[in-house]
Amino acid sequence: MKFISRIALLLLAGWLATPSIASERPNILFVFTDDHAAHAISAYGSKINTTPHMDRIASEGMLFEKCYVSNSICGPSRAVILTGKHSHLNGFFRNGITFNGAQQTFPKLLRKAGYTTAVIGKWHLGSTPTGFDYYDVLKGQGPYYNPPMITADGNGNPVTKPHTGYTTDIITDKTLAWLKNDRDEKKPFMLMYQHKAPHRNWQPGPAHLTTFDDVEIPEPETLWDDYKGRPSAAAEQAMTIARHLSENDLKLNRGPNNLTPEQRKLWEAAYGPKNEAFRKANLQGEELVKWKYQRYIKDYLRCVQSVDDNLGRVLDYLDKSGLAKNTIVIYSSDQGWYLGDHGWYDKRWMYEESLVMPLLIRWPGVVKPGSRNSDIVSNLDFAQTFLDIAGVKSPADMQGTSLVPLFKGHTPKDWRTHFYYHYYEFPGAHSVARHYGVTNGRHKLIHFYQNNEWELFDLKKDPNELQSVYGNSDYKTIQSDLLAELKRLRIHYKVPEEDPVPPKRKRPNQPNRPKKK
Ligand code: CA
Repeated sequence: MKFISRIALLLLAGWLATPSIASERPNILFVFTDDHAAHAISAYGSKINTTPHMDRIASEGMLFEKCYVSNSICGPSRAVILTGKHSHLNGFFRNGITFNGAQQTFPKLLRKAGYTTAVIGKWHLGSTPTGFDYYDVLKGQGPYYNPPMITADGNGNPVTKPHTGYTTDIITDKTLAWLKNDRDEKKPFMLMYQHKAPHRNWQPGPAHLTTFDDVEIPEPETLWDDYKGRPSAAAEQAMTIARHLSENDLKLNRGPNNLTPEQRKLWEAAYGPKNEAFRKANLQGEELVKWKYQRYIKDYLRCVQSVDDNLGRVLDYLDKSGLAKNTIVIYSSDQGWYLGDHGWYDKRWMYEESLVMPLLIRWPGVVKPGSRNSDIVSNLDFAQTFLDIAGVKSPADMQGTSLVPLFKGHTPKDWRTHFYYHYYEFPGAHSVARHYGVTNGRHKLIHFYQNNEWELFDLKKDPNELQSVYGNSDYKTIQSDLLAELKRLRIHYKVPEEDPVPPKRKRPNQPNRPKKK
């Protein structure tokens, strides 16, 4: 009898190890955009647009309220996601350098564990993607129209191919083609479906060139921020709606230079009359800023609308193909973004609008539909989450934590209470000073270390972060607690005392600095 049981156990073990069981591990579809702020998603309470397909993921899954990016800029966020390590360890601490593709990444580990992996769309790490069975990616930022894209030829060498059409549509066409025809159906898949949109400079597609023409978009509360309640950093940037948008950003020039005659015709029909009316009006001062805000925000939202339309196509395909029931769908973006908040566009700051990443997840049978989570989570957690989903143990040198227990509605007792942030790109585009900081979700301490300036915010009393209370005696205990956490986290995450590139000790004079009144 004992012998028979042993045989039965051996047979069972063999059966469990067969690919047919492995293939029942869930597929992962990671939908990722560039610079899409949570407050431009209606599920997050947007007052300026509606995103029905993103909202569908939220209503059929979970919305994370406090997903924080560890370094609020494009390439660095992507590198953190791939490696599960902070910028100072994965080496990609600012844009414009090349990601070391030889290092450990979650796609490599998933592939080793039997997943088929693909990345389609924006890569933006300067390197050729590694760890993927299939890649088809934009060159660098990639244009909004007619993008050249890089894929592997028959010998595995990168080859660039031209395409005609709107980039958001093309990336989706390729995603659907891979799902339908090209993937290895014997394996579960991890597909990174990554849009360029709605990155600057917000060129809408043919379907949305005139969307929002007949409405006024509400202005954010802080459009007219004078930066008075904080030390110098917030005032010394170069990212204001009022003074730093170019003619190209504002579509006051010819538009994209690579359009086909048909695309050109549509573009000119959409912008020509509006630009003529603008020039006739000869707006000045506050009226001109208001006009710039409307032009900027409408173009941004038009690009978001195309992403949402295309996400709808993919969700439809998952339903029709039957893939939906065993496919986890995640929606996120590489960081947040200023929708005119503080008078700005762009990102980079540890302030809420660019710190918060949208994070929505649908996992049928596991995540409770319509649920919300307010724990502090991060892009640092994504790699370990994907590995956990696939049943793969995380390597000890990854620095995040799997979100799978949170998906199931159980927050571990020892879940993080404080979050560490670090931005390095100064000098750099938009002149945002280097800073690091810590937040517990209610209070936030920021150190602009090149000029040794500190800020402390009480997000409950001052959700727009207009008045720093650093040094205020009412906040003495909170300030010292946050400082202690900051020190602890810098040691915990092995942050070096000196930046990888030594900072300039003093920031150069900013020609665009507003005059002190
Ligand atoms: Ca970005």
